[in-house]
Amino acid sequence: MLKGIVVKAYNSYYYIQSGGKIIACNLRGRFKKERFSLLVGDEVTYTLTGPDKGVIEEIRPRRSMLKRPMVANVDQVVLTFAAVNPNINTALVDKFLVIAELSELEIVLCINKIDLSDTDSVAKLAELYEQIGYKVLTVSAKQGLGIHALRLLLFDKITVFAGPSGAGKSTILNAIQPGLELMTGEVSHKIGRGKHTTRFAELLPVTGGGFVVDTPGFSFTEFNDIEEAHLMDYFPDIARIAPTCKFSTCLHYKEPQCGVKQAIASGLISQARYQSYLEILTEIRESKKGY
Ligand code: GDP
Ligand code: ZN
Repeated sequence: MLKGIVVKAYNSYYYIQSGGKIIACNLRGRFKKERFSLLVGDEVTYTLTGPDKGVIEEIRPRRSMLKRPMVANVDQVVLTFAAVNPNINTALVDKFLVIAELSELEIVLCINKIDLSDTDSVAKLAELYEQIGYKVLTVSAKQGLGIHALRLLLFDKITVFAGPSGAGKSTILNAIQPGLELMTGEVSHKIGRGKHTTRFAELLPVTGGGFVVDTPGFSFTEFNDIEEAHLMDYFPDIARIAPTCKFSTCLHYKEPQCGVKQAIASGLISQARYQSYLEILTEIRESKKGY
């Protein structure tokens, strides 16, 4: 049986990439009932019914599933931010990090536009997140700096790029692989098509192996799924210290003898990270009030 990966679903066809070819496949009758459960990213086995046509026979168990966009088997997320233009907003970085932690993906923080920023502040920023345990890459898509390292990271994986609009995601992807021809901000304005209009996700192959997801995802409505007491689980720096709090139920808010607050005083946890934590904690509280 032949193996492939679903790269696109369109008009009741599933397009399978298999050995460098794209095969347009139908689902075997017995899957028809569940046809909507087959996702881009799914690994399948198929039989050929024509030179580039086939039937999907089996769907392999999923390693992971991302909800927004709906993609199976995503391995990692590259959270992309511009160092400047617009200036990086660490509160927003932390929000993206929480959403990425929720999805249980490998996380890479990519700081772009370093050609416009001073070296010191980029280094400080990278250090802040590296100390928490995140992998950080600093790049300039415009000048091609750091792009090779990023390309190596994509090898043989399914990667989704997320981050605020204007951070340079499309420019980075075009730098990684010019053939991808993703529309950058400038182009999409010119032809008047909003590039963030909803459409089905598609996997774009990276030369040498691996795929990137073409749809920007992530939505902060997912904060509503988090319980107050669990928010700290998505802040590795805070979670690490939390066992030193006097109360096991400590939310590190107004509780006495809070180890987290002591860690901030002694510089072990950054004040900015703690502010982000409090901000999201407040958001969760407000949303649970039911309005
Ligand atoms: P996206 O919304 O995240 O996909 O961002 P785009 O790729 O559309 O880029 C937004 C703007 O930033 C465009 O005008 C790009 O030309 C510019 N840009 C992207 N990367 C860089 C970079 O490394 N340096 C500089 N100076 N500008 C960049
Ligand atoms: Zn505490």
